[in-house]
Parts: sequence; structure tokens; C-alpha cells
Amino acid sequence: MKLIFEKSVKGRGMQYLPKCDVEEVALPESLRRAEAPALPEISETDLSRHYTELVKRVHGVNSGFYPLGSCTMKYNPRIDEEMAALPGFTGVHPLAPLHATEGCTEVIETAKDLLTEITGMDDMTFQPAAGAHGEFTGVLLIKQYHDARGDKKRTKIIVPDSAHGTNPATAAMCGYTVVNIPSAPNGCVDLEALKAVLGDDTAGLMLTNPNTVGIFDENILEITRLVHEAGGLCYYDGANLNAVMGVVRPGDMGFDCIHLNLHKTFATPHGGGGPGSGAVGCKEHLSEFLPKSALMTGEEGIQVKSFAGNFLVVVKALTYILTLGKEGIPMAAKNAVLNANYLMRKIQGTFEPAFDRICMHEFVLDLSTFKKETGVSALDVAKTLIDNGMHPPTMYFPLIVHEALMLEPTETESRETLDWAAEVFRSLYELAHTDPDYMHASPHNAQIARPDEVKAARNPILKYQG
Ligand SMILES: *Cc1c(COP(=O)(O)O)cnc(C)c1O
Repeated sequence: MKLIFEKSVKGRGMQYLPKCDVEEVALPESLRRAEAPALPEISETDLSRHYTELVKRVHGVNSGFYPLGSCTMKYNPRIDEEMAALPGFTGVHPLAPLHATEGCTEVIETAKDLLTEITGMDDMTFQPAAGAHGEFTGVLLIKQYHDARGDKKRTKIIVPDSAHGTNPATAAMCGYTVVNIPSAPNGCVDLEALKAVLGDDTAGLMLTNPNTVGIFDENILEITRLVHEAGGLCYYDGANLNAVMGVVRPGDMGFDCIHLNLHKTFATPHGGGGPGSGAVGCKEHLSEFLPKSALMTGEEGIQVKSFAGNFLVVVKALTYILTLGKEGIPMAAKNAVLNANYLMRKIQGTFEPAFDRICMHEFVLDLSTFKKETGVSALDVAKTLIDNGMHPPTMYFPLIVHEALMLEPTETESRETLDWAAEVFRSLYELAHTDPDYMHASPHNAQIARPDEVKAARNPILKYQG
């Protein structure tokens, strides 16, 4: 497929801008560019075809099953987009006077009320733009809390090995020493290991719950009690809230602060790097440390993004919560859990789960025995799924399971889709035993087969170089 720049023909284009109705003012010479920008020139027909062709090459939630573990690739209702597209929300200037933006303020306040209710927190900020950004903000709350009390000896953050990779990265970014603790054989935090590292140098614990192997920690109350007893605070990575929203609340489990991924659980499409929101909630004792929008309030304190963050993501979250309501929210969570367990049991007998127990919203398959038998790796299976019209699951994560495939079907998939997916997995299991070479060479029908992933990550080509 040609790039839009390669389709460009000089002088071609479309001109729909209305006549300028104000006096034109020439830019000062010093601000003018020497040459016109090299923008593509193309007719509307060809532009429309270009994007349609691009859409066909992408696998999105709207084109097929997308069980990418830990990412909650569920269907996001269109009404949420419609509300976020209302001109009253899109046209507002962040510096408009407060009396002109009362509707936006009400959206933020209502969303805050509902999300603090859902999480059992007392206060919330929508400033962080992503989950990891929310973690950074949340751990800064913990840091400010200890600093404000003059408690300078707390230099360590404890992170279980079943945490999302962003957790230890966040603690390190905030200047803490990361203390890793292992999981018990049942996938939960090893309490003895936790007790062994707790002390008066403990600033806090970061816990992903349900964790990255899809397990709700059965000792959660004991864990938060132990950390508090040592004088530390408890941080809840709530990016997996889709499994528990409306059913249990992190605040009731003893957590002091939390982040949510509004772009996973609360209806903003994601995956393309688009605007997200890592809303951070906290209990009252951390409220004073939340980010302030210095421009609006003149107050001092941390600020992690300008103004109120990605406001339109909050509009979508609010619409989503209001349309699902008090019954719909827990029902979505329960169906997410049901779908994951259904798919896990349907696949079992071929590919085996890493933990043979009831899971939450996602589960991890352990393909290490399968690989020993067939020579076919988790990567080969994932690549062959592409040819079957399915987005691959998350691969080689979490690190504590070797040859891992992590599946999160979400609540918005039908039983028919799950049955089909299980059938595909079973057929690939058979194929690995009869024609492993075919799988080593997969995908056979994709636009890109096996790129050099290290090179793609380290030296991405992000702009047209022609
Ligand atoms: C996705 C995810 C994150 C990070 O969120 P981003 O918006 O990608 O920064 C953190 N923790 C968990 C458990 C996640 O699933």
C-alpha cells in the first residue's frame, strides 16, 4: 500500500474552507517558514479510499475478537463517543471563565462522585493521562504524605512479582528502592515473604489486584493490615477494575490510593496511543496532596498535566456509568469474569492454564510443556491466530509464567464468539502436532509477518522519509 505522500499529486486537492470573514494579518517575517510544508495533495475520493484501506489492515475491537490480556479490549458503546463529541464539550477553551464552563465542572464533579463511590475513595483527580501516569501521581501522594510528617526514612516500595510491569517502574521513577516479593504457589502474595521485608523503611506497597495472572488476592485484608502496621501506605493498581467494579471496593480492602484506567474499564477506545485517563483516587488523608491545576487555582502542589487532564475521556466514562447504572456496572464485571472462566475451561485439555482455579477477568495459559512436546512456541501460536482472524493474546507476560499467553475476553463477547475462539485454539493445538513448521512460519496472510521487534521498538520510523 502506498503512503499518502506517495499518492500526492501537485495541485490536486479540495478546498472547502469558507471565505475568511476577518481582516487577514500577515505574520512577521521572522515567524514565516522559508518553504511551504510538504503536505500531501489528494482528492477527497482518494483520501476516503486511503483511510478505508488503512482500516482494513488494522485489527480492532470492531473487526474481531481481541483477547489481549491486561488491556480490556471491550466494545465501547457509541453513545459515549456521541456525548464526548457535543460541541459544548469539544469547543470549550480551558481558560474560559468558570461561569462559562459550569457544564464541564459538573461533568467532572459527577464523575468524581460516582467513581469515588465505585472505588470506596474520598477524592479523585483526572489529571493523569494514562495508567502509568496515574501510578506515578499516586506514589507521589504517598511520598508527599511521608515527607509532610517528616518521616524521611521510608525509602522502599514493595512490589509483588505478579504486579504489572509499570508498578516497579513507577516506584523507581519516584526515587524509591523497589523490593520484589515472590508469589505463593497459588498465585497470591506470599505473606511470609511480605512480613520479612516490611519495616520502618517501608514507604508503601503497590499491588495489582486482580493481579496479572487474573487472581484476586484472597489475603487482601491481611496484606493491607500488615503494611499499615509497619507505617506504610497501600497503592492499588486498579487498571483491572473491570473484574470487580460494583462488586468490591479497593477502599474497603484497606487501600489508601488507587488509579483507574478510564480507557480500559470505562469506555474510551485505546491501543493506538490516543487520549486516556489514569484517574487517581485517594482517601481523605491524601486528598491535600492531589495535583492542583496551578493556572486555575493558583495553589501550590504537584501538577502532572495541564488543566483537568483529558476531559473528554471523563465525559465518556460518565456517560458509560450513567447508561449502565447501579445494576449494569456489577453485571458487566460479573460477565467479564464469567466469560474468562468459560473460555479457560473450553480451552483446557489442550492448552493448560498456569493456575487451575477460578480466575477473574483474565487467565494465563502456560505453554512450556506444549513447547517441549511440539517445538511450537507461544509466539508461534499467537502468530497463527492472526491468520485465523483473532488478535493474539498478550504474550510472554506475566514473566512468572514461561511461554505465557494471557487472555482477557471481556464481557462484551457473545457465547458464540467464545465457542469459536476455543475451537480455534483447539485446532491450533492439533496443528502444532501435525505441521509445526507451518506455525513456525505464521502468519501467512498478514501485512507484516515477523518484524524485528527489538529494532521496531528501538529505532521506530515515525515520519515520512521520502
Ligand atoms: C494497562 C495497565 C497499566 C498501565 O496503563 P497505561 O494506560 O497503559 O499506562 C498498569 N497496570 C495494569 C494492571 C494494567 O493492565
